[in-house]
Amino acid sequence: MNAPFDDRDGFIWLDGRMLPWREAKLHVLSHGLHYGGSVFEGERVYDGTVFKLHEHSQRLIDSATMLDMKIGMSVEEIEDASRDVLEANNVANGYLRPIAWRGCEEMAVSAKSNKIHVAFTCWDWPKYFFPKGGEGSGVALKTVKWRRPDPLTAPVHAKAAGNYAIGTMAKHEAMDAGYDDAFMLDYKGRVAESSGSNIFFIKDGAIRTPKADCFLNGITRQTVIQMAKDMGIPIEETTIMPDEISDYDEVFVTGTAAEITAVGKIDNKEYTPGSITKRMQEAYKDLTRQKVAPRKTA
Ligand code: PMP
Repeated sequence: MNAPFDDRDGFIWLDGRMLPWREAKLHVLSHGLHYGGSVFEGERVYDGTVFKLHEHSQRLIDSATMLDMKIGMSVEEIEDASRDVLEANNVANGYLRPIAWRGCEEMAVSAKSNKIHVAFTCWDWPKYFFPKGGEGSGVALKTVKWRRPDPLTAPVHAKAAGNYAIGTMAKHEAMDAGYDDAFMLDYKGRVAESSGSNIFFIKDGAIRTPKADCFLNGITRQTVIQMAKDMGIPIEETTIMPDEISDYDEVFVTGTAAEITAVGKIDNKEYTPGSITKRMQEAYKDLTRQKVAPRKTA
């Protein structure tokens, strides 16, 4: 078993200081812990460079704004702190996690005076769905009872920790039934996404994906849509109902962690990863290996 996340070597950037990993602590009466006042990012490091660093850094600020939190850092400052923690931990291929949360000044639902804390960490990380990884038969998804909520009910477009309570319950339900991940519908019963990735369906050489109107519009999702357009593969954002999914030939999920992972099964319906999934995986691999955000020189 891997070392727990609070007992590792390395460095964590916390509120402007680079601390030894084990010393980066917060108090148990932090508002973010009790009331879900926390937003975060998940980023991939490829060959020493963070993929889409600018987009993730902007999304951290946008997520905070949606929760009425002010991070107090510009996108450029977030990018610099991200690169600093990457460099301090000497990670070539891994995962980078910025997080911002409400501190301890008030312990009540309101949090107007609570300080916003920010931390950045980075570690080596293998593939999310390893070893299946989509290069073989693909991952198995199970329809779960938990649904993506109405945008008037939750900050569905924010990468907010509170939203992940649903994702964790959904994923546990799928794993307990022997599947890899959850197949989630939304509050209207439409196909939405998985617990931590967006979903795409392929039929007759064309790709379709649910509109991101009540779940996270993933940066990988947006990248894949653009890639398909650039490659001349027809792609449409549309409503997909669960009773239509057996009509499709190929299915894949996308996310910073999942990258492009083929789906081999949804409930009892099996899919074989085909040529479009493979072409998209190859193109994504090429794109992520480009140096897109070189470190600024003074
Ligand atoms: N949906 C959810 C619920 C997620 O947690 C993620 C991962 N952040 C995604 C979709 C994919 O987002 P991205 O491509 O930006 O990683």
